[in-house]
Amino acid sequence: MLAATNGWRQSDPLQNLNHLFHFHVARLLGIRENELSFLLEHIESCDVTNPMAIWQADSLIERYSKNFDLELGSILSKLIRDSALTPFDPTLLRFSPNGLRMPALSVPLLPVARTLNELTIASSIPGLDALLQQPDFQVLNAFWGVPKLTAVWCEPDQLRQVLNLVADNMCLAPSNVRLATEITNGGTPWINLGEVSPSGKVNHWFSPTLQRRYSACPVYCARRRLTLAVERLLPPNVKAEIEGALRHRFSIQQVLADGEALERFITTSESMAISASGILRSMSGLDHADRKNERLEVIHADSLQHSSHRYRNDEEAVIKFVHSILYKGVELGSSDIMFQEFPQQLRVRYKVDGDWFDQEGDFPGHIAKQVISRIKVISGLEIQYVRLPQDGTFPIKIGDQRYDFRVNTSYQAQGEQAVLRLQRDERSVKSLADLGMPPHYVSAIKDLMEGDHGLLILCGPTGSGKTTTIYSILRSVDAVKNNVLTAESPIEVFLENISQTQVDDDGPYSFAMWTRGILRQAPDVVMMGEIRDEESVEALMRLSSSGHRAISTLHTNSACEVPNRLFLFRAQPFMVADSLKLAISQRLVKKLCPRCAIEEPLPTEELLVRLGIKPEWLAGANSVRRGRKCDFCRKTGVSGRKAIFEALIVDDEVKIAIQERAPALHLQRILERRGEKSLFEKAVREAAEGVISLEEACKFREVASTVSNG
Ligand SMILES: [Zn+2]
Repeated sequence: MLAATNGWRQSDPLQNLNHLFHFHVARLLGIRENELSFLLEHIESCDVTNPMAIWQADSLIERYSKNFDLELGSILSKLIRDSALTPFDPTLLRFSPNGLRMPALSVPLLPVARTLNELTIASSIPGLDALLQQPDFQVLNAFWGVPKLTAVWCEPDQLRQVLNLVADNMCLAPSNVRLATEITNGGTPWINLGEVSPSGKVNHWFSPTLQRRYSACPVYCARRRLTLAVERLLPPNVKAEIEGALRHRFSIQQVLADGEALERFITTSESMAISASGILRSMSGLDHADRKNERLEVIHADSLQHSSHRYRNDEEAVIKFVHSILYKGVELGSSDIMFQEFPQQLRVRYKVDGDWFDQEGDFPGHIAKQVISRIKVISGLEIQYVRLPQDGTFPIKIGDQRYDFRVNTSYQAQGEQAVLRLQRDERSVKSLADLGMPPHYVSAIKDLMEGDHGLLILCGPTGSGKTTTIYSILRSVDAVKNNVLTAESPIEVFLENISQTQVDDDGPYSFAMWTRGILRQAPDVVMMGEIRDEESVEALMRLSSSGHRAISTLHTNSACEVPNRLFLFRAQPFMVADSLKLAISQRLVKKLCPRCAIEEPLPTEELLVRLGIKPEWLAGANSVRRGRKCDFCRKTGVSGRKAIFEALIVDDEVKIAIQERAPALHLQRILERRGEKSLFEKAVREAAEGVISLEEACKFREVASTVSNG
């Protein structure tokens, strides 16, 4: 069937390669004689004078699957079965900005790693590696100026994404080969290790010990090739030594990476190795019969130096395990870590961006007691009290950075549990502008905080980020000139120059007691964590109408509901109208994962109307985005959060409406008339800008409808 090849051999070798690529794929696909017209049509449609355009279009394989209505995934998996073990993800690599040169072919060949003698390219053609060794393809070696060329396979879609990213830095060589051979790929690709996490599978081949010894991180491993990230290219003798250590199973490719990122990568690898194998191996060796004694051993081990060797190993394993979990928690940016004891297993969970997820791995139930005991020891709690809830704290140090954990232990039906909250540091408090608050809200807060009196209420459900915003507001207040007092339950961030008091409504010192004594302390700015009852509302009203500035929070859905909620606490309308200056409602939206978000066409106008979205909110957007769910985002499609705000700024018009006990809907209409956007509209506009998905934005439809009904 490929007899026609010869007829197409032209004087231009690169043009010739185009045909060879296509015939190779056609042979892989098993395209039959009567389907040849489809192949020819595809080749003809490839305009190699404009490669970027064809690279963005469907590849031959994708076209084939569409034309014959076959499932692309199964075709690909069949084709790559014997040509590459795992698809390579080129988005892992960042390219040196200069010298990313690609030949003008009908298929993209993206250089991803280079050593002195060898260049690795990524392409969507399965089996390209074997093809490259044929004489016809030597022209590519000449093009890049390397003796040896190898290929890794990657998904067409991923390749297109990377091409988009690097398009500006890409130099397309002219198809004229005489010119092309004079150009070589000047840069060594480098990898942004900050975006790569160690993979257990690859670490299996290149262990953390080797990583530490050679200061090299394994980032990719195919059948016979291992790609190492290094700060400086390895000298040939060291490279040979590594290949020897790996028993010549792999040849080594190198990419450059930042030194600090390398160090972090290696430390993470080491801590993964501890949690994955060391702990379980050393603990499963102990039989259950002497478990009781051995637990005591762990408990007293801090003071006992003469424990048996075996027990000491065991205790070290527990310490390493706990440390590796804490380390991972910090690395993930989690707010909480939970250890739960079950009869059959220890469950370890992290809370990141407001969602819990489990630590992978099988931790047998009998280690739970030791792990939780260890946490109690370091937090200064009593080990023998199992059923009594206890609170404690402990610090850890990672690198030069100190992290403080607040610990709560309790007993559930199945066993003990310990919840660790990572105490935030004053440095983590962002400015209001950095939180994403619109400038006119920021200046309204500033006016209030620098004015002579007034009340600011933040509202939103639990977990909407109110506390974070309050700390940002407190930070914006000049705490030297002003006497700033707070009552919090609990204190989450300690702020300099501010008198913070921990109160507890179930304990001896409640919010109400705090407010009773407050005036004697001559405050300027007062922050009360939460409005709970009539007494605290009355105190806030009194303070904020008598020359003080007060801040608090309420659980209402929208800013416009705040005045009416205060009425429910028996506040008088004239008092609310006089003291309330600003009500801000906020929500957190989940941002799309930067690694796997893809564009999607806009929904039809009919669907938009059904979703309650006005088409003009999406004006200017040609598409929306959604996350495909990758390993980077732990299959969630989202990464990180962002706050959106809606504010009721009390001016004369709003003041009169409050005095007249106007319903929330009426206040909402006033805001609309002023051009203030609703939370829902703001969320949809974030989606139009590709920051969040449209699905995420639609979660705020409810907020819109409760206000209009209420
Ligand atoms: Zn992702």
